[in-house]
Amino acid sequence: MATIRKRSRKRDAILACVRATTCHPSAEWVYQRLKPTIPDLSLGTVYRNLSMFKDEGLVISVGTVGGLERFDGNTKPHTHFVCTRCSAVLDLMDINLEDGFLQNVHDTAGGAITDYRLSFYGLCPDCMQAANAAE
Ligand SMILES: [Zn+2]
Ligand SMILES: [Zn+2]
Repeated sequence: MATIRKRSRKRDAILACVRATTCHPSAEWVYQRLKPTIPDLSLGTVYRNLSMFKDEGLVISVGTVGGLERFDGNTKPHTHFVCTRCSAVLDLMDINLEDGFLQNVHDTAGGAITDYRLSFYGLCPDCMQAANAAE
């Protein structure tokens, strides 16, 4: 019983951690964040739980950025901007995909679109500024 309770406490903490941030964390980030309050937490447990959450639709994967898979607690369809320099993943919630674009995808797919993952890549404002300053 004690083991099960402990395991679900970790599970709850991991899910809450991903949902509480908009930084689109990696497993490593979640692990570093929770380790001080859950000393017996292992990186493997974080990986396993994030993978389960993904299968259960509780989190989505933003894909691999700089070699690490990144997760999002916001499962509503939205667009991302990924900085190729500092690996920041930003939400572009207010981007309005023109109806024509989604209609075009819909027509091409021929079925029904229920979800989408769209990411743009480039330099974030901070990295843009740093690049300009270095010139
Ligand atoms: Zn950046
Ligand atoms: Zn997001």
